Amino acid sequence: MSITELLNHYQRFFDSHPRVFKLLSSGTDFLVVANHEPYYQLVYRLIRDQEMKQGTWSEEDEITYKQKSLSGTVCVWKLDEPEYNQWIGECGGSWWFDGDNPTESGMIYCPHCGKPLVQE
Ligand SMILES: [Zn+2]
Repeated sequence: MSITELLNHYQRFFDSHPRVFKLLSSGTDFLVVANHEPYYQLVYRLIRDQEMKQGTWSEEDEITYKQKSLSGTVCVWKLDEPEYNQWIGECGGSWWFDGDNPTESGMIYCPHCGKPLVQE
C-alpha cells in the first residue's frame, strides 16, 4: 500500500474524529475508548469539560461531540422554561436550577433515566 493509499484509508477515521490529529501531534501517551464501552460518554464528557476549561475545545470538537452523543445512548437536556430556569431531558425528566444549569451543577447522569447527561 502506498503512502497515499494509506492516508486515504485512514482519512475516513480522521474525518469522523478530528481529536485524533490533536492526540497524534501531541506526542504524549493517550487512551483509546471505544463507543461500545460503558464509560465512553462519561470519558468523552470529561475530556470536553477539561478542554473547555483550558480553552482548547473548538467549535469543530463541539459539533463532533454532539453528533457522537445524540445517538440514544445519552439523555440530552435543554432549557425548557427560561423564566423558571427549568430544564428537561429527552426522557421527560425535568429539574429546576437555582441560577445555574445541569453541567454547572455537576450532573453527570440524568436523574430520571440514568443515562449520561448531555447538555444541549
Ligand atoms: Zn433522562
